[in-house]
Amino acid sequence: MARESRTGGPLGWYFRTSLFTRILLGLVLGAAVGIALSHFPGGAEAFVSRGQFFGDVFIRLLRMIVVPVVFFSLITGTASITPSLIGRTGGKTFLYYFATSAIAVAIGLAVALLFRPGEGMDVVGVAGAKGELAQPPPFGQVVLNVIPTNPFESLASGDILPIIFFALAVGIGLSALRDSKNETLARQANVFYDFCAAAAEIVYRMVGGVMQYAPIGVFFLIATVFARQGSQAIGPLAYVALTFYVGLLLHLVIGYGGLLTLFGLNFVKFLRGAREPMVAAFVTRSSSGTLPLTVRASEERLGVPRTIGSFVLPIGATVNMDGTAIYIMVCAVFIGFATGMPLDGGQMLTLAATAVLAAIGTAGVPGAGALMLIMALESVGLKVAAGSAVAATYALVLGIDTLLDMGRSCMNVTGDIAGVAIVAKSEKMLDLSKWK
Ligand code: ASP
Repeated sequence: MARESRTGGPLGWYFRTSLFTRILLGLVLGAAVGIALSHFPGGAEAFVSRGQFFGDVFIRLLRMIVVPVVFFSLITGTASITPSLIGRTGGKTFLYYFATSAIAVAIGLAVALLFRPGEGMDVVGVAGAKGELAQPPPFGQVVLNVIPTNPFESLASGDILPIIFFALAVGIGLSALRDSKNETLARQANVFYDFCAAAAEIVYRMVGGVMQYAPIGVFFLIATVFARQGSQAIGPLAYVALTFYVGLLLHLVIGYGGLLTLFGLNFVKFLRGAREPMVAAFVTRSSSGTLPLTVRASEERLGVPRTIGSFVLPIGATVNMDGTAIYIMVCAVFIGFATGMPLDGGQMLTLAATAVLAAIGTAGVPGAGALMLIMALESVGLKVAAGSAVAATYALVLGIDTLLDMGRSCMNVTGDIAGVAIVAKSEKMLDLSKWK
């Protein structure tokens, strides 16, 4: 009892236990309760109708955060780049980010279509309803729709692509103004920048708060799915994780291995030099958190000069997320199959474009990619509405998000390090003695 009062009353144990353990517990208990209930159809229905509320709370909390996260973190991220730095090095860096994102998306799609996770799963929503595709517009229209005619309307209705477009534009304008020779303008721009940076920070705090509810939300969402599906849901879940990890491995070898070799750099030596931050990212699930290690390893082990590292790596940790792009492709295809609404060619193209943008908008913190998956799904008409089959399947992947987040964070950081080495090599500034 004495211990309990020291740690904040009856719920002390909850907050004392690591979030990772609690989510895992939510997942396992949810699956166990759901499977047990699936043997009693009457009980399962009663549970589903009552438990729905607690699952919906979680879905709504997540949805609440998506727009502010994307909006404020993109403005701050873009505005942090000084225009004078975006010269040749910047150009090369972005070319590398774009090329590797394209490779990541292609590999993600290829493995997803090859392995076809979720096919034949037939998840139903809380009301017993199967998925219903909200009609996505044709691809050409999607491209046009990226440009908002009224950004405030897009913000209000949560249209994520136009929001990203607008936030990038605001960020670029802001970045120029912060460097203005006119002191008043520069001061005003910095006030706005500070406001956005603080807002982004506040929203990240909120993400942390929402995640405290995640174990409960995951429990109810998973239990609901398993109560309906029985134990059949376990197999597909393991299968989607396998598909994703195969995608990551292919990207590591073909994407980074290929590019490094193309630039005359030894892939094995690269892995040896990058292994510390790679492991750290895997364990912490945060590219931003790993940044200090990434900078050090690039400098000390791979011979990247500080001038290049300190510019390329922080941007990379914010915008370069190939692991997240692969995750979005694999999981979206999985959810399409599992809800009986497999994606068609046009949707896959839209998804690919969204995955690249979503990866840019993903913050380098644990779980951020899972929020981006919501917006990627919505861009192809798979709406994560409370009680829907899509929300139920989304909850399934969310249940194993920790496992997936480890892989994608590791890949995100690896991509940053490969990028900085390649850019430094192409600028003839890499200390090649470290690669001997
Ligand atoms: N946790 C990832 C990272 O920090 C982002 C994500 O959730 O996809 O790189």
